Amino acid sequence: MCGIMGYIGSEEAYPRIIEGLHRLEYRGYASAGVALLTENQELNVYKCKGKVSDLEAFARQKDCSGSIAIGHTRWATHGAPNDVNAHPHYSGSKNLAMVHNGIIENYASMKIELQKRGHVFLSDTDTEVLVHLIEEIQKQEKVSLSKAVRLALKQVVGAYAIIVLSKDNPNQLVVAKKGSPLVIGIGVNEFLVASDATPM
Ligand code: GLU
Repeated sequence: MCGIMGYIGSEEAYPRIIEGLHRLEYRGYASAGVALLTENQELNVYKCKGKVSDLEAFARQKDCSGSIAIGHTRWATHGAPNDVNAHPHYSGSKNLAMVHNGIIENYASMKIELQKRGHVFLSDTDTEVLVHLIEEIQKQEKVSLSKAVRLALKQVVGAYAIIVLSKDNPNQLVVAKKGSPLVIGIGVNEFLVASDATPM
């Protein structure tokens, strides 16, 4: 049972995500990661095997600016607990990054279909398949991010709580859940989203 966390607001997102991930540590995990939309409009993913403190050490010299970010502590179900399989996962173009709690049961057939369309996967996770599918639908159907997420999830069998961050939508986090917990916190000029209320 992993932890997911998202922040969008007027403050720096990275310290809030890290604090939230620390509060979610009790749920158990083997790797941690963050995706940040920086002040330079770059969508950066930092992730590694180990503890949230290892992630903090890894990200220390990197650009952690920006007021929108997502984070994850992973309880591996598909793929070994290593750096590559850690979340967040990028879409093929690296325009999207996603964190996921749960299991996509039919990921293998979706992966084969996407590979036939030229998608290349870096990890062994079910999660990476879903974020590629969302991007493929965006491309094919020319729909908004939230619509593409909705259409992709119609194809999914399984349980999930997801947060999607997009380079092209700097003021939006798209979230969805089915069978996995997800809490939304509404603050003053800020929103938080997490697997449970402890980060709030
Ligand atoms: N099934 C995903 C994975 O193995 C998510 C696991 C989780 O909930 O942490 O990466």
